[in-house]
Amino acid sequence: MTQQSNLSRLKNIRIVLVNTSHPGNIGAAARAMKNMGLATLYLVDPKEYPSLEALRRSAGAIDILDNAIVVSDLKQAVAGCVWVAGTSARLRTIEWPVYEPRQCIQKALENIEQGEIAVVFGRENSGLSNDEMEKCNALLHIPTNPDYSSLNLAAAVQVVCYEFRLALMDEKTAKVKGKKHYQDVLADANQLEGMYQHLYEALDHLGFFGRNNPDVMMRRLKSFFKRANTTQREVSIFRGIYSAILGRKIKRQEKVGKAEKLS
Ligand code: SAH
Repeated sequence: MTQQSNLSRLKNIRIVLVNTSHPGNIGAAARAMKNMGLATLYLVDPKEYPSLEALRRSAGAIDILDNAIVVSDLKQAVAGCVWVAGTSARLRTIEWPVYEPRQCIQKALENIEQGEIAVVFGRENSGLSNDEMEKCNALLHIPTNPDYSSLNLAAAVQVVCYEFRLALMDEKTAKVKGKKHYQDVLADANQLEGMYQHLYEALDHLGFFGRNNPDVMMRRLKSFFKRANTTQREVSIFRGIYSAILGRKIKRQEKVGKAEKLS
């Protein structure tokens, strides 16, 4: 495989900026992407966009800005992606697999044959919420001075894009990753969301949550499914199980209904 064809995989990587306050950071992120050969930018509800300041700071990466896709929530930005990393300056108390950029990008590249992957960046003042992190398979943390851990948004985008480029320039890595093939296609973000909702309904029906907080329980279960790289076929099997559980509910209700009529 030639270096160029490896590098063409950069087109399968989405950079997603959530709720960016400063349009200058959007421009600087576009510049960072173009320097490294990435092209697909999603903007989730930016505070000010389009913007002259973004154009100015993009230093000529106007094509990236012109083609940027503006959406209203993160769900739309990662729709169709088979693997999503959320970036954070802070390590969270909830368990996500946490990777440094190099490891994270190796993980991401294991899935790149399957479809698009996304790296999500948070707000300048508050980063990504836990709800947003839940849409991600892993947390990418750039190791920094613990007393001063937060990079400028565009600087964080630069580090990540650089690591993608380095990884794809390394022919050995690309070959190994290219060899990996799946029997089945990975489930995308929407398919997983649908399965989680179904799982919630089934567990709720079984009375499984009891005194447990359903949000915490669901968060742990989602974290498990993300780590497992769940495939589309597996999603179908699990949904079949949940339907069977819920179907039993319907059948049981029908029986109760019939019994009531008889008595
Ligand atoms: N005050 C925020 C920091 C936001 S910095 C917080 O505590 O989360 C804006 C964004 O840049 C972050 O949401 C993240 O996407 C990225 N970023 C900044 N520093 C980072 C780091 N050390 N590792 C990974 N991403 C980082």
